[in-house]
Amino acid sequence: MHKVATSRVDWSALREDFPILQERVNGHPLIYFDSAATSQKPRAVLDVVRNYYEHENANVHRGLHALSARATEHYEKSRQRVADFIGAASADEIVFTRGTTESINLVAQAWGGKFLRAGDVILLTEMEHHSNLVPWQLLAGRIGARLRFVPVRDDGTLELEKLSSLLTAEVKIFAFTHVSNSLGTINPVAELCQKARSVGAMTLVDAAQSIGHMPLNVQELGCDFLAFSGHKMCAPTGVGVLYGGLDVLDSVPPWHGGGEMITSVTLEKSTFKKPPHRFEAGTPNIAGAIGLAAAIDYLEGIGRAEIFKHDVDLASYALQGMADVTGLHVLGPSRDRGGVISFVMGAAHPHDLTTFADQYGLALRGGHHCNQPLMRRFGVPGTSRASFYLYSTREEIDRMVDILDKAVRFFK
Ligand code: PLP
Repeated sequence: MHKVATSRVDWSALREDFPILQERVNGHPLIYFDSAATSQKPRAVLDVVRNYYEHENANVHRGLHALSARATEHYEKSRQRVADFIGAASADEIVFTRGTTESINLVAQAWGGKFLRAGDVILLTEMEHHSNLVPWQLLAGRIGARLRFVPVRDDGTLELEKLSSLLTAEVKIFAFTHVSNSLGTINPVAELCQKARSVGAMTLVDAAQSIGHMPLNVQELGCDFLAFSGHKMCAPTGVGVLYGGLDVLDSVPPWHGGGEMITSVTLEKSTFKKPPHRFEAGTPNIAGAIGLAAAIDYLEGIGRAEIFKHDVDLASYALQGMADVTGLHVLGPSRDRGGVISFVMGAAHPHDLTTFADQYGLALRGGHHCNQPLMRRFGVPGTSRASFYLYSTREEIDRMVDILDKAVRFFK
């Protein structure tokens, strides 16, 4: 018998907050296990975005009319809300971007372009999402820097004993993910940041998979930069954040040029605002930022510690159920992991298995999950991935296990 976790949150009732969960897919109730790709949105967020467009819509920072003032105030309040959510010292440490990918590109291009030289080392890990790998490859190719990687063990954790030989004085930045989007591994961020600092390296934390799933405080983690996307934490797509300490951001030159980021412009040259506005050229995603603040209110109403417990409970419940499915092999740690489970089933290609699951209304993801080097490391072309969030339930996991059992018979 599986132990039923107790929690002060009524997880089943909370599903009512997410209209999309009422959808039927291929004649079955939707089981949405693709939250690592993007989360679903609660009505509270949808309503705030709609209300913004119905009552406040105007461009920010430029207008002298009432609506523009209203939109600007709401947008800037959202920045403060994000700062409080991640424990930043000031709203000026919050740059709104399109998402994790853009945040990391900003650091690689603007910070890296200024501070890195030929021969410098950028330390990454073998489990990075392409968005925390390709921007560094582009930079390294441009300036002649070198990339170095912390290897991943067979159990999906980082080979941290190698860190002392990898983290040398040549390393200028250590950029790594908090939670692996393929393996569910949770990396010891504070320890990694402290070790990087001890050799004078900067740190960038990819918090795409952790931000909406567990308590997180940038000052406790001790990171220099932290990147995340709104859409994985109940907010709209197209908005994300780059956190950077004030002094750090102040040292970074502009990267995108345009309106909003200047103090004065002549035909020959321009001067630039201080951070964060220096990095927000053009009209930002105003509704997205406001929706992000609403998502933060929603998540904090539940509590990130509760959400983390729920994720961990679902992951361990799923691992127990999946252990009985013939021929199914799960990648990643067997414990201390987030709510992301990648697996392969001997006879079935991950794409075929994922398509099979869809016939029963089960939304999995199949493929390399933007982790091609990691898939190569494990000798698989890809995996099927089930990823859970606050609206996922044990009952849905039971249904997934039934569907996987059917797949075993189908693909044999
Ligand atoms: N980093 C990790 C760990 C991710 O899982 C993802 C998205 O799946 C990203 C970065 C990229 O996020 P986005 O596509 O929102 O920029």
